[in-house]
Amino acid sequence: MVTIGVLALQGAVKEHLDCLNALPEVRGIPVKKAADFTDIDGLILPGGESTTMGKLLREYNLSQLLIDKITGGMPVWGTCAGMILLAKTITGENIRHLGVMDICVRRNAYGSQLDSFATSVVIPELGATPIPLVFIRAPYVESAGANVKILAKVDDKIVAVEENNMLATAFHPELTDDLSFHKYFINKVIKRG
Ligand code: GLN
Repeated sequence: MVTIGVLALQGAVKEHLDCLNALPEVRGIPVKKAADFTDIDGLILPGGESTTMGKLLREYNLSQLLIDKITGGMPVWGTCAGMILLAKTITGENIRHLGVMDICVRRNAYGSQLDSFATSVVIPELGATPIPLVFIRAPYVESAGANVKILAKVDDKIVAVEENNMLATAFHPELTDDLSFHKYFINKVIKRG
């Protein structure tokens, strides 16, 4: 059994927990106090609003704890706002939140015309079937360091990346009924264990 924490300060927490708890041998639990992080094998940073989540992380003194856990190798997956929390650089802003992943992201990158949209792409690492992708006021990755593997692009923009124990997606697999990304993350967690 693997236990995955979903950061429960704000955002799409329940949706991720439901996906995790639909998988065999996986237990998803909400995490928000320092003590909650001791018993987890991996962590999901959900979508929501990154400025608010970053502020709450600092207010609750969780930032350094998370940075230490992630740089120590704990598998982490950020979706949408979660991707922004992980990024080393946020275009046009002089703040970073956890700043652990070697990516530069642009927030709300699709502008108001295309606030939300859905598409599907084949992501070779996940298999040959197209995966449905849901974007909501999404960021994309403007640039990524040499150690960052690009998993998916949509219209030439990078929307899914992996760097060692870190995974980040600009879209929301938890809002679809396709569990491929959750399975991919769980496999990373199991391989580490
Ligand atoms: N636009 C949000 C932000 O910048 C992210 C949106 C999302 O997580 N769906 O934080």
